[in-house]
Amino acid sequence: MLTQIKPYKKIIYLDYAAATPLDFRVRKAMEPFWDEKFGNPSSLHKKGREAKDAVDDARRIIAGIVGARPQEIIFTAGGTESVNLAIFGAARAFMLSRRKKPHIITLKIEHHSVLKSFEALAKEGCAASYVDVDKDGFVQLDKLKMAVRQETALVSIMYANNEVGTIQPIAKIGKWLKKENQKREAKNLPRILFHTDACQAAGFLDLNVQKLGVDLMSVNGGKIYGPKQSGFLYAKSDISIKPLIWGGGQEADLRSGTENVPGIVGLAKALELAQKNLESENQRLLKLRDYFILKVLEIPKTILNGPAVKNGGLNRLPNNINVSFLGAEGETLMLYLDSYGVAVSTGSACATGLLDPSHALLALGLPEKQAQSSIRFTLGKSTNKKQLDFVVGVLKKIILLLRKVKNPKM
Ligand SMILES: *Cc1c(COP(=O)(O)O)cnc(C)c1O
Repeated sequence: MLTQIKPYKKIIYLDYAAATPLDFRVRKAMEPFWDEKFGNPSSLHKKGREAKDAVDDARRIIAGIVGARPQEIIFTAGGTESVNLAIFGAARAFMLSRRKKPHIITLKIEHHSVLKSFEALAKEGCAASYVDVDKDGFVQLDKLKMAVRQETALVSIMYANNEVGTIQPIAKIGKWLKKENQKREAKNLPRILFHTDACQAAGFLDLNVQKLGVDLMSVNGGKIYGPKQSGFLYAKSDISIKPLIWGGGQEADLRSGTENVPGIVGLAKALELAQKNLESENQRLLKLRDYFILKVLEIPKTILNGPAVKNGGLNRLPNNINVSFLGAEGETLMLYLDSYGVAVSTGSACATGLLDPSHALLALGLPEKQAQSSIRFTLGKSTNKKQLDFVVGVLKKIILLLRKVKNPKM
């Protein structure tokens, strides 16, 4: 039966939440910095100065986009490093100034870069709280508020989830924390820093740190058509964090090491392009997303995981579709799709344990079976309706077959 379907002429890539191709304009912007303008930004001669100018320009561009000051942008080697710098940086600054271990708060559905940092700090003696989310993946605000303690130093809440696309009310949390911090100041309690992991949000949402009310924000280039291993951490100038990497004192002493000049230039260009076309591309993707959801849910026993699609207002990333095909296993389905030239992901692409159901889907309250039968489709610049129609056709046939094999009576 499966042999009746011919693979699509080119790979249909529906895994943009895992990696995006480099935009040709980004590549062009980076080009001179591999060989022609190869200098070390710390060198005082002409070659060094031309590299430093490029890094400064990139910093200004990014600061402009996120509504920060240039000196508040720290270049890193990607999302994971930014997140680690924010979390360990805040916790260690607290330990050094207060001479005790802090309490830190995050969500159960965060990316592993956050959760593993929390676990590592917990092993060092910090207290960590993991706040529940509701069935759509939204933070339970009452539980977040209840989690705060006297020695709380950091709240880290992702802007948008990488598996089900849930967009958290960051500005609302920022406002609450601001008030909370005013009360704490009067009582001489430590200020609670607010970090958001915006790696999945940067291509789709407003990154203005003033509106969001965050002290720290992590962004990477590899998810926004920029180079991998590029990223930045926004760190508000009136807060104190400690570095992870020590050396020559680059990046305001928060990230030593010779700057990745092509990467930094590419990151700034990628963010500029993403934010410039945000509205129109979001509208295009929303239409495709909702069309695809409608078509996929026509397949019997399929469930949309994450926030329901709603009219007006964005509660879910415009490119995210996460569906469970009951009676079929996600991993098997993904491999079948791959053999038809369709690239998707199960659970989280960063997870290595093959059949471990995703921690995020379980935190949403999905039964294990439903979590194991889930597939994440994430759309991007090259996605079109024709590709999605092909994928729906393939899905219908594969799922019928997989369910028959598993349960001949179905
Ligand atoms: C991809 C991702 C990261 C890690 O970024 P890298 O650049 O791969 O280190 C962190 N958080 C989220 C939400 C992500 O999607």
